[in-house]
Amino acid sequence: MDGGGRMSIVIAIDGPAGTGKSTVSREVARRLGMAYLDTGATYRVGALYCLREGVNLNHQDDVTAMLATMNVQMKLDPANPRVVLDDEDVTHLLHTDSISLVVSTVATNLDARAVLRAVQRDLIEGTRAANGVVAEGRDITSVVAPDAEVRVLLTADEEVRLARRAGDGADLATIREAVLGRDAKDSTVVQFHKAADGVVEIDTSDLTIEEVVTAIVKLAEEAQA
Ligand code: C5P
Repeated sequence: MDGGGRMSIVIAIDGPAGTGKSTVSREVARRLGMAYLDTGATYRVGALYCLREGVNLNHQDDVTAMLATMNVQMKLDPANPRVVLDDEDVTHLLHTDSISLVVSTVATNLDARAVLRAVQRDLIEGTRAANGVVAEGRDITSVVAPDAEVRVLLTADEEVRLARRAGDGADLATIREAVLGRDAKDSTVVQFHKAADGVVEIDTSDLTIEEVVTAIVKLAEEAQA
């Protein structure tokens, strides 16, 4: 704790799609008065930017060069996280199928990952002087912030993950591709199904959001003790 008795730590949360990761991460950040960083949004806005600029996502060097010049601002308020690209709020565009179905092409480009990782690390460091951050993604516990005070991997059974997404209203083929297809592609460059050493794994299959949030808040309080 800092002088004001607030949290100033990094809580890293990884996991595949459909584990409740974003909902849980935002709520933990909100409860602890911390910033919230959705690193998936950096990959999504990178894909959007390249598509808008007419860059073929399969042309890895072109994508990397575009991302290096991308003018993006991430607003880390858990009550209202926003992504601003060239002064335009593009938050509402990032979870459309047209991005979800292509984002892995950016994420499997290792040079592009390095560019976005630097952006993510800067954002995380920027919260150190304030209340700290809950950062969620695929490789936060293992690569982006392996020194985070709290490191958690959320998992859930495949059927549970698909059912959670089906509840959001999309058709089944799209859901399968957006959950399992994306995970399969992402898994070629990052490991997010097994907990790295020192990472606490929470299987969310039979847990409510509230139970997962409570468990992570407890870990954060223990880390501060
Ligand atoms: O978390 P979200 O589903 O929004 O992430 C979108 C995509 O961004 C993932 O499917 C993955 O391709 C990529 N990603 C990543 N590493 C992270 C976070 C997201 O590769 N740390």
